[in-house]
Amino acid sequence: MWGICLVLILACATGEYSEVQVVQEMDNFLENPHYLKNHEIGELFTQLAKDYPDLAQTYTIGKSLEDRPIYALALSAPTGESKNGDLLRPMVKLVANIRGDETVGRQMVLYMAEYLATHYDGDTEVQDLLNRTEIHFLPTCNPDGFAKAQEGNCESLPNYVGRGNAANIDLNRDFPDRLEQSHVHQLRAQSRQPETAALVNWIISKPFVLSANFHGGAVVTSYPYDNSLAHNECCEESLTPDDRVFKQLAHTYSDNHPIMSRGNNCNDSFAGGITNGANWYELSGGMQDFNYAFSNCFELTIELSCCKYPVASTLPQEWQRNKRSLLQLLRQAHIGIKGLVKDASDFPIADANIYVTGLEEKPVRTSKRGEYWRLLTPGIYSVHAAAFGYQASAPQKVEVTNDNQEAVRLDFKLTPVETNFDGNFRKVKVERSEPPEKRKEQFDGFLTPTKFEHHNFTAMESYLREISASYPSLTRLYSIGKSVQGRDLWVLEIFATPGTHVPGVPEFKYVANMHGNEVVGKELLLLLTKYMLERYGNDDRITKLINGTRMHFLYSMNPDGYEISVEGDRTGGVGRANAHGIDLNRNFPDQYGTDRYNKVTEPEVAALMNWTLSLPFVLSANLHGGSLVANYPYDDNENDFNEPHMRQRNSSINGRKANPTEDNALFRHLAGIYARAHPTMHLGQPCELFRNEFFADGITNGAQWYSVTGGMQDWNYVRARCLELTIEMGCDKYPMAAELPRYWQDHREALLQFIEQVHHGIHGFVHSTIGTPIAGAVVRLDGANHSSYSQTFGDYWKLALPGRHNLTVLGDNYAPLRVEVEVPDSEPFAMRMDVTLMPDDPQHWASANDFRIIENVVNTRYHTNPEIRARLAELENQNGQIASFGYADNEFSTYFNYLKMTSDIGEPEEHKYKLLVVSSLYDTAAPLGREIVLNLVRHLVEGFKLQDASVVDLLKHSVIYFLPQTNKFPDVFAMYNVNSSICDPVLGDELAERILNPETDLAKDMFLQFLRSEHFDLMLTFGAGSSELSYPRGDSVLEKFAHGMQRTEFNYSPLQCPASATRQAHRETTERLTNLMYRMYDLPVFTLGISCCRMPHHKQIASVWRKNIDKIKNFLALVRTGVSGLVQNDKGQPLRESFVRLLEHQRIINVTKNAARFQLMLPHGLYGLEVTAPNYESQVIRANIEEGKITDLGTIRLHPFTLIRGEVVELASKANGGSTTSIAGMVLDESNHPVRNAKVSVVGQTQLRNFTNSLGQYHISAVPLGTVVLKVEAPRHVEATRQMHLIQGGLATENVVFHLKINEHVFGLPRLLFILFASILIIVGVVVCVLCAQFWFYRRHRGNKPYYNFSLLTQKGKEQFDLEDDEAGDDGETELFRSPIKRGMTIQPYFDEEQLERILHTDDEDDDGPHMEPELDVADDSGDEIVMLHNPGNKRRH
Ligand SMILES: [Zn+2]
Repeated sequence: MWGICLVLILACATGEYSEVQVVQEMDNFLENPHYLKNHEIGELFTQLAKDYPDLAQTYTIGKSLEDRPIYALALSAPTGESKNGDLLRPMVKLVANIRGDETVGRQMVLYMAEYLATHYDGDTEVQDLLNRTEIHFLPTCNPDGFAKAQEGNCESLPNYVGRGNAANIDLNRDFPDRLEQSHVHQLRAQSRQPETAALVNWIISKPFVLSANFHGGAVVTSYPYDNSLAHNECCEESLTPDDRVFKQLAHTYSDNHPIMSRGNNCNDSFAGGITNGANWYELSGGMQDFNYAFSNCFELTIELSCCKYPVASTLPQEWQRNKRSLLQLLRQAHIGIKGLVKDASDFPIADANIYVTGLEEKPVRTSKRGEYWRLLTPGIYSVHAAAFGYQASAPQKVEVTNDNQEAVRLDFKLTPVETNFDGNFRKVKVERSEPPEKRKEQFDGFLTPTKFEHHNFTAMESYLREISASYPSLTRLYSIGKSVQGRDLWVLEIFATPGTHVPGVPEFKYVANMHGNEVVGKELLLLLTKYMLERYGNDDRITKLINGTRMHFLYSMNPDGYEISVEGDRTGGVGRANAHGIDLNRNFPDQYGTDRYNKVTEPEVAALMNWTLSLPFVLSANLHGGSLVANYPYDDNENDFNEPHMRQRNSSINGRKANPTEDNALFRHLAGIYARAHPTMHLGQPCELFRNEFFADGITNGAQWYSVTGGMQDWNYVRARCLELTIEMGCDKYPMAAELPRYWQDHREALLQFIEQVHHGIHGFVHSTIGTPIAGAVVRLDGANHSSYSQTFGDYWKLALPGRHNLTVLGDNYAPLRVEVEVPDSEPFAMRMDVTLMPDDPQHWASANDFRIIENVVNTRYHTNPEIRARLAELENQNGQIASFGYADNEFSTYFNYLKMTSDIGEPEEHKYKLLVVSSLYDTAAPLGREIVLNLVRHLVEGFKLQDASVVDLLKHSVIYFLPQTNKFPDVFAMYNVNSSICDPVLGDELAERILNPETDLAKDMFLQFLRSEHFDLMLTFGAGSSELSYPRGDSVLEKFAHGMQRTEFNYSPLQCPASATRQAHRETTERLTNLMYRMYDLPVFTLGISCCRMPHHKQIASVWRKNIDKIKNFLALVRTGVSGLVQNDKGQPLRESFVRLLEHQRIINVTKNAARFQLMLPHGLYGLEVTAPNYESQVIRANIEEGKITDLGTIRLHPFTLIRGEVVELASKANGGSTTSIAGMVLDESNHPVRNAKVSVVGQTQLRNFTNSLGQYHISAVPLGTVVLKVEAPRHVEATRQMHLIQGGLATENVVFHLKINEHVFGLPRLLFILFASILIIVGVVVCVLCAQFWFYRRHRGNKPYYNFSLLTQKGKEQFDLEDDEAGDDGETELFRSPIKRGMTIQPYFDEEQLERILHTDDEDDDGPHMEPELDVADDSGDEIVMLHNPGNKRRH
């Protein structure tokens, strides 16, 4: 048969060249049309290769699942030139039958192969094509599917038999997808079909330029992309950057196809017979997108026939329709530009990128021979080439016409980056046969010459682009966000298969240059990147590291700061902060509180947090400069936010208390690894500038060194579960470039060893008994609370020191599991521990956590309003001693039912806290919240019955109101009953919104009235959409409450709820409502997100309860920690008007009206409490509050002011002869109003004091000569001190005026009154003297009667005093000392005598302010122990 064929072809060669005639006459392969079986394809290809040895080569790309070979044939004419003659000959492929039952293309590909092979001799068109083009034919991708498909079936068989491969997988959805989520990608890579894997290899390994992929079931040409980020089902175009090229290619096919071009076949409608893939229908994992996104090849998907598997007799007609289209399409491989990229010595450069302006998103890459092809439509383009290790070429202008179907030739010659190098650079790199060891010696560890220099942002960016382009299979360059000034925060991922998290492979990160002027880390990471990539494959250690560790390097977290930093800056601060002037290492959320440095999150920090939380990082280091030490968490102490006197920072490392984490031993070990691998760090020698800093072993606990609030390393540990160290790389922050080689030598080994630590410890997988991976399981070690979570695939890591450890694994709805594990103390220092969790029994959980209340966790459902009422009434009936149900017995309870619980209902509640628990402020979340409230009530009732200590304690200390909201329940419940998977029912007018709305609404008004009258201490309510807790921001005590509540959130991994518009709206509403409640009603509201859905399926209620019970218990436990005391005077009489204030806090707590008792909920920690009563000296008491304990301060006795206002005590001034003097002057406030009753005293001489009169005047006698410090304290004002030198004896020093700042929340005197006083001063001065005399007289006659009797007179309310203050008589009956004497000191002299020297005492908050000699300020002359240390020297900051 082949002989005949050959004869015919020969005949043809001598015959006419009328093309149509030739086809019609000669194509004998069309005789007896039939579909070739797979083995027949193999035979045909073998035959062709045998018959046309110069043209054809046959090969297989792999085998199918059922072991059928996948045959391919390559056709290309030999060239005259012997060597490299086929250089720049583009490669095209025709592929078909990826779906086994779409068969027309299969035969078309075979026909075309035969046609071209048989017509080469004699047909100039074919000759031209094969002389210039290499064409590969792959008639079937899916031989197994084809074997099952049935001829004549126009639609797929039932269950798509034959469409997929032998495993019935649709191969055209099995390719890696450019938009794929990491875990999907990974799962699929593991289960990729052999056919797809073979195709992927084939496509990647050959430099194909153009491709067509034939399908059936429609008649249209489709072009990429096939999917979009939006993942719409259809009808939305998703265009490539090369859309113009693709449209031209598609039209080339369609326009030459007699029926496709009409666009109206098979009941479809496609304009011009072409369509964008995504516009037609969404498809992910398709071959066409894979070609474009992962290789240089442009592929079309061509649908050939309405019928998928038509009978063979139609094949000749199909050939006639497609032949011209095919031939024309093959020619399109020659549009655009092509060329060679070489180096100076004419060595081809592989993997160089060719960039076309405007199409930079899709660079093409050169082949191993340095060739490239870039398909382009006609136009003028600017093109340049770039390759790693070379300077990018200059852009070249090129005009593309595509005339004569010939690509424009455009070659590039690149020069190595090392211009002083002798030109052999590329040889060194290309010829890998040279032993790498030799090169390592040559280039100091690197395999190519390396420049040690600083990189600004642009240089760094191009360095990273080039290196990632040079190692595309080992790297992925991505940006995690932008800086304030819009610079990308570039991260390079280095891993054997970059792009996705691989189950069982740990994630590691280095972050450098967070402080813009600390640059060593950044440059060393750039060097480390080059070092590792070059040595991959040449160095077992590096190869192992890259194969088994997913590493992410963020080279510059603060590129804006870097840009203004200066080389040679050793210890400066220019460029340290970001472009907003914020120190990024103070800007993270802190476990202990919020201050002005971290109140607003900077974009760089936000980007870093999102990134860190998006990957399961195990280990990290944060590279700084300015010292040489490895620093480990924590960086601050819990008192850094609330105790002003502790906040002074000390640069001496011994001065502070270490604050270790639960993983302290491990952290010390990790820090030690780094320090010991560095030649000098472990010696712990101080830097020149900080001579007193010695770090034992070169490591330190952050808090012990100096406090950093809002630091990144603590955030990583606390929030992201990632162990992070802060490495100080050296004493100089920005050394000269010439010093970089030394830094590299010193740190290279340490940097590598630290990465290797990510493998040391315990890792494995968490599965259920049926083998399902369990994500989000909590993994803990040795009883510590700090936990890790298992990842999507159930994989987890827990770094650990060698030795025996107890591993605890907790999965939601699984029984806890505890195993003992031994980590070996030699290589590999690691232990793999896979665990299987058993489903738990709710009864076990209930007996362990919920007093065995089965009702709370079994058969949970939503209760209706009558049911809720019935339950609450029943609870009251059965537990009348502790519960009381408010229902329709007053106006409020007609709208809201509530249950009140406390021990001994009816006993006085004065000493108890009042708590309010509301189901939800959202009517749509209330049904769930009500169930939680009901569960909680049952929990407390049962706990009380069992006399559980914590419940008894709780009810003893507090009155709790439970308020299950009922208003709109019927509406919401109706929505749920229609659709129980509704998740988030939507209601227009939620209670929260009505509260914020000024319009009157009876229910809302009743609720607010309730809040106003009851004065609750705290309120808890429930929300949905996340597991976050919202609370009023800005108060450190409330913040600590919140942290306390969330402390056990690590029993469960945080909820990952999809965002939605209503969820966002509710979050904002909650925030506004929280602020409103706090401001208007002084009520801190805590809203706890308990579930993603506002109304989950009723069976889920049990799980919601189980996940949140700990946080709710924590809330209730807040009442168990705090402080209490009684305030009395010297005589033991209660001071009922006294009040208590936390230092540096706004809130004032009044004592009770009977016993003058105060009680404050306070989180544990150190506090200063100021106790104040009118006419009494305030006291500041230092209280150390312990967890779970109400610290009783006992009776606090306040002393009355012993001197009467306006009185002047003359001390024995004559005794010391001329060695004393007197001081007189005035005390005014900032508005020049006189300050009455200000205490003026000489520091250190308690008897030397006096008070100002109503005109603000004072006078002190018998003051010794020399240097004295005068102090003024006044109610509601900031105290002031002043140092004076009194030189001349006997001569009175007068007009010493103090100007006091008014303390914040105090009313000032109206200006008019001051003028009145001033008038009195001027006009009636004499009268005043007379009055004084009378006063004196009166005073003498009073004898020794104590004056505190005044305070026992009936006193007016505070507000009244505020208003009537000025009207009060000078005798001061109604003086009110409600404002504390603030301990911060500032004075502003009004005017001074020349003889006075003054020293300003400022306690400026600015860290960088000048500081004087250390001195001990005794803050209170009454002997309180508060001591402030002013420290000298530099403030150290990392
Ligand atoms: Zn730093």
